Amino acid sequence: MVDLDTLYSLCKRRGFVFPSSEIYGGFGGFWDYGPLGVELKRNIRDLWWRTIVQERDDVVGLDASIVMNPMTWVTSGHVKEFVDRLVECKNCRQRFREDDVSGTVCPNCGGVLAEARLFNTMFKTFVGPVEEDASIAYLRPETAQGIFVDFKNVLTTTRKKLPFGIAQIGKAFRNEITPGRFIFRLREFEQMELEYFVRPGTDDEWFRYWVQHYIDWFVKYGIRADDLKIYEVPADERAHYSKATADLMFNFPFGWAELMGTADRTDFDLRQHAAGSGEDLTYFDEEANTRFLPYVIEPSVGVERPFLAFLLSAYHEEPDKEGTRVVLKLHPRLAPYKAAILPLSRKEPLVAKARGVWAALRPHFMTTYDDSQSIGRRYRRQDEIGTPWCITVDFQSLDDEAVTIRDRDSMTQERVSIAELAANLNQRLATS
Ligand code: ATP
Repeated sequence: MVDLDTLYSLCKRRGFVFPSSEIYGGFGGFWDYGPLGVELKRNIRDLWWRTIVQERDDVVGLDASIVMNPMTWVTSGHVKEFVDRLVECKNCRQRFREDDVSGTVCPNCGGVLAEARLFNTMFKTFVGPVEEDASIAYLRPETAQGIFVDFKNVLTTTRKKLPFGIAQIGKAFRNEITPGRFIFRLREFEQMELEYFVRPGTDDEWFRYWVQHYIDWFVKYGIRADDLKIYEVPADERAHYSKATADLMFNFPFGWAELMGTADRTDFDLRQHAAGSGEDLTYFDEEANTRFLPYVIEPSVGVERPFLAFLLSAYHEEPDKEGTRVVLKLHPRLAPYKAAILPLSRKEPLVAKARGVWAALRPHFMTTYDDSQSIGRRYRRQDEIGTPWCITVDFQSLDDEAVTIRDRDSMTQERVSIAELAANLNQRLATS
């Protein structure tokens, strides 16, 4: 697999990812997504939403606020339990996550590390014009709590029957002690979370179902099955709410690390919020004429770790006539641009023709246009950013109203009439 530096340099050079506020020296754990990165991120989110919400009959969506009533985080246990163990070097004063250091020696200067202490990783802010303890609020460290506190609203408005899920995509914030490894550990990131409510007693079965469902999803969109493995998290490493957790690990260039996690949160959250708010959050089972708190299975995944894993998996270097062809073999649905329109010359009337082809495709697909340098160079540029199809417009196009589609992976070419181009690309996309 490609190393992180090479991938980072491609991401920076081609406009996938930039350091946040780079002109001021960047800011640890914060990154910006450039014109290509924003498309890839959007495609990941859209594919997830399509799979988890739109194509199912048992999941609905939600978009809760980032800053919530601070009682939420007291009740959920985050104020007390959302902590990392932090160690500080007595010599250079640098701080580390205890997980990231082995032994008692500072990885930075070799000094002695002090005893670990607990550090809450929730970001605090003030709401309202007075900066005092009473106005402290938190930037959410997970989107899940928005789902739990809205559980009753969703239930009464949708009249969903168990088992059913509520899904949400949104920003989450964690004041990580040691952000790094490019976009692997961030302080601001996005989560795609599903809370899937089930009858107690059926939770083990649903837990396994969702673990497998996500593996299949990642493999379908380009991650090699060999680069995935499940880590069953032992009790002493699990979050305070979890009865069972399975982390899906990906073979990153720096070793196996968590891509996503699935947890059996039981009825912990609904029970806590019912007690904390005084609201009845039970589910009424009409058949059995009883009320109970459902259990919940939570597959939780960020957007950025899959972003990284999809790029790492897609990156290929292949020998060719000019040396090496760098190609991102991204699944076409993930690729930032589905097609690039490349006129063979910058002369009229070819440019007008090519621009016309581009305009006809824009309502259907995210596309780009490139008329600078040789056609070979332009193919390489599109390969490097994962564009699955290059459309060349040549002088013959003026007579036969046809263009050539060049496939990124096989490099085969097909002549297609301009009138059928959109349908042809749609067909390719549908069968990819
Ligand atoms: P880690 O052990 O790596 O800190 P975690 O177990 O705390 O992760 P969860 O709380 O299970 O992570 O969060 C669910 C998912 O959200 C993660 O699997 C990951 O995809 C994403 N995620 C969590 N923390 C971060 C972060 N700091 N940066 C980027 N993504 C994150």
